[in-house]
Amino acid sequence: MQPRDLSDHVAYEAGRGIEEVARELDRDPSEFVKLASNENPHGPSPAAAVAIRETASSVSSYPKAAHADLTAAIAEQWDVDDEQVWLANGGDGAIDYLSRAVLEPGDDALVPAPGFAYYGMSARFHHGDVREYELSKGNDFAQDAETVLESYDGDRMVYLTSPHNPTGSTIPLEDVAEIAERTDERTLVVVDEAYGEFADRDSAVALIEGRDGFDARDDVAVLRTFSKAYGLAGIRLGYAIVPEEWGDAYARVNTPFAASELACRAGLAAIDDDEHVERTVETARESRTYMREHLEARVWESEGNFVLVDVGDAERVAEEAQRRGVIVRDCTSFGLPECIRITCGTEEETERAVETVNAVLAEVD
Ligand code: PMP
Repeated sequence: MQPRDLSDHVAYEAGRGIEEVARELDRDPSEFVKLASNENPHGPSPAAAVAIRETASSVSSYPKAAHADLTAAIAEQWDVDDEQVWLANGGDGAIDYLSRAVLEPGDDALVPAPGFAYYGMSARFHHGDVREYELSKGNDFAQDAETVLESYDGDRMVYLTSPHNPTGSTIPLEDVAEIAERTDERTLVVVDEAYGEFADRDSAVALIEGRDGFDARDDVAVLRTFSKAYGLAGIRLGYAIVPEEWGDAYARVNTPFAASELACRAGLAAIDDDEHVERTVETARESRTYMREHLEARVWESEGNFVLVDVGDAERVAEEAQRRGVIVRDCTSFGLPECIRITCGTEEETERAVETVNAVLAEVD
């Protein structure tokens, strides 16, 4: 027997780790720095690392209390009801839960191009189709209501990414509200704030709750993750905040034990570790400013923990930088074959990345 026809589905391309790259090039892992997957250069919150160690002896039991405790802690952080917090296996898992909750066969999801690949993948898994709205390079990948609404055609889900991966641009909350207002009442607007901690903008949770002068809406959901600012990418923990009106929909769509006990304990410790998040955000701001000032190529303004750089031939520059020990993201798969994305690192990592990329650019020219 064979799986069903999966020819319409593409495999998610995860970035390669240092060990893998070093093995392939037959080099020592210590020679490399990886700035390709928007990971936290300071590692996990130390409090979360302790919690993970302490949880080790209890992982023979199914998760119980931790799930409820973490849900309550997140609900408190956002001042929403516990039922509005949909814990999941990373932001990716939360995207799947929203697809499950909303899409019916043949429904469309409208996604940004360039954009995060998993929105479309998830829609297809859930028997939906994918349509794209274009963010244009000539316009610095600016995001506004018109850009999205011009392409909208009754799609059941509309994805906005703020800050946007891989460009770092953001969308004002007024524009999000306008999109939600001017789209069909069956359309869910998903605001992916995976990089929200690094931005100056307020969260779109204000639209769900009707705060800061916005009317409360039942057609907006917000995605957040512990992978970036909290440094817990390997634990796989993220969540969606959904409108109160959605009631017990989560209980009906979630995979049993949506987040592991380890993930929940780590998340509970991390959420209280403001110092780690603040240090991480500060590092990202310094790093992106340094890269904008010192890279000898066009660097777009970014509110994420990464910058997009126009290098001409991304594949060649990324490969050569990697040979010199700096792993960056070639954005060809995003439809930007002339750009690389560099994650904000520590001061030392950032300086090394800038020096290396500049040296490669000087030789390639
Ligand atoms: N949204 C965006 C825009 C992302 O870049 C990522 C991670 N690359 C995610 C969501 C999902 O992250 P995770 O599943 O690790 O929470």
